[in-house]
Amino acid sequence: SELAMYKARLAGKPTHIFDPVADRPRPEALMLMGEMRKGLETGQFQLVYQPKVDVATGKVVAAEALSRWQHPHMKNLSPETFVPLAEQTGNIRHLTRWMLEQATTDCAAWRAAGLDLKLSVNLSAKDIATGEIVMILSRLLVEKGLPAEVLTLEITESALMDEPEEALATLDNLSDMGMSVSVDDFGTGYSSMSYLKRLPADELKIDKSFVLNLANSREDDVIVRSTVDLGRNLGLSVTAEGVEDLESFLRLREIGCTIAQGYFVARPMPLEKFMEFCTNSPWA
Ligand code: C2E
Ligand code: CA
Ligand code: CA
Ligand code: CA
Repeated sequence: SELAMYKARLAGKPTHIFDPVADRPRPEALMLMGEMRKGLETGQFQLVYQPKVDVATGKVVAAEALSRWQHPHMKNLSPETFVPLAEQTGNIRHLTRWMLEQATTDCAAWRAAGLDLKLSVNLSAKDIATGEIVMILSRLLVEKGLPAEVLTLEITESALMDEPEEALATLDNLSDMGMSVSVDDFGTGYSSMSYLKRLPADELKIDKSFVLNLANSREDDVIVRSTVDLGRNLGLSVTAEGVEDLESFLRLREIGCTIAQGYFVARPMPLEKFMEFCTNSPWA
């Protein structure tokens, strides 16, 4: 069953969650998912917001909503663990519904406070594999009084590999309604270019693995520069995530990258802190 394990890995199934031999999620994973349902209902989940700033002006223009799980006993469950787990067990629908409800509520709050900033949310493969999300998002936008244009949907390339036709149709729909589509973790997938051709993309988001070392790596510099050129030539906005120092930020400005996000600007933070940051900081 070493082979089964490799097959599971190749299929993108994390082997600490998914038992490749029995071909089903491990019992611990299933238990954790029960905890997740409970946690979503009892307020253990929280959203934090990380600013996205215009590289040319240095001003905040948007925020990415990122989920946090504060379980009463288990410490620091990272989304890198619970999101893939939720995807494998079908629980992602519940996380996504909660996340979208919370994020649109928060976005309406910062707009009511006079902050004209866009909201980026992460969607998983399962979320766009059917058209259900179109109804969920339409209803939320109406309920919260938000124009479709404030929303950016960050989708990883791998999200399209499951049900490419359905996923593309869903994204076309959302894009026609006025939402922006961002290709997240750009450069890490198998076939970035072919997806780029078929997707209604508005933004390329360069994966942080190419950005973290930008100031010291000749290779990363070439990759980031080429991606920014590609985006510009396709008429897309280009975001660099994982910007951790001034040198990288300034280099991105030279290169002509549109938007920067990373610890150099700010770490993800709760709503109140985020609104304070956008009112009262050098990036405001
Ligand atoms: P992502 O969408 O690529 O988000 C960027 C991740 O990089 C975040 O980690 C963020 O905190 C981190 N990051 C931001 N700036 C820097 C930096 O300068 N340096 C470094 N080293 N890291 C930085 P986080 O919050 O742990 O999220 C991990 C992943 O979990 C996200 O990756 C996203 O794919 C997923 N995720 C988070 N929340 C949700 C959610 O509500 N729904 C879905 N479907 N996925 C989510
Ligand atoms: Ca993202
Ligand atoms: Ca990313
Ligand atoms: Ca990522």
